[in-house]
Amino acid sequence: MTRALIVVDVQNDFCEGGSLPVTGGAQVAYDVAQLVRSWQSKNEGAPTWSHIVATKDHHIKPGSHWASHGSQPDYVNTWPVHCRVGTSGEAFHPNVDHLPFHAIFLKGAYEAAYSGFEGATADGVKMADWLRSNGVTQLDICGIATDYCVRATALDAVREGFEVNLLTDLCAGVAPQSTTEALAELNLAGVSAVQPV
Ligand code: ZN
Repeated sequence: MTRALIVVDVQNDFCEGGSLPVTGGAQVAYDVAQLVRSWQSKNEGAPTWSHIVATKDHHIKPGSHWASHGSQPDYVNTWPVHCRVGTSGEAFHPNVDHLPFHAIFLKGAYEAAYSGFEGATADGVKMADWLRSNGVTQLDICGIATDYCVRATALDAVREGFEVNLLTDLCAGVAPQSTTEALAELNLAGVSAVQPV
């Protein structure tokens, strides 16, 4: 069994101070970095990932995913302008910016894209193909937001045949109710929600 870490959308716009801030986002960025450093140092009890990868919301012109000018986003299907390519909001949060990701998957250039499995590397390699070609069978998933992109990524991971574990303490959700619902849905889908030992 080969296990990888997927860090979902830990970007400036999704952390405090960004255009679509999720409460606890910066703390997630800090905690993810701590866990990755522990893994790098091969500390006792650290996770034994073969690879670590990240996804990014990466918008150029994502249509109605951004609320149109002058109208209010509903925070379910339409959102404030966020993660626009070329802005600091699209960049990784500074806490995770220098982590040694083996691959970064970009999603949503011209559409809404919640799942990291819709993403591809700059060379066009889709995430599922990349993971399989690297022998990965198990995934630890963390990031922002629990009730949207983490949820969609974890559900697709199960559909793609991976064994999925959610690092719940390293996730932050947009709203309490949808986060609770997402965790219940993921549990039903077969995602295990335990912390790494
Ligand atoms: Zn987006």
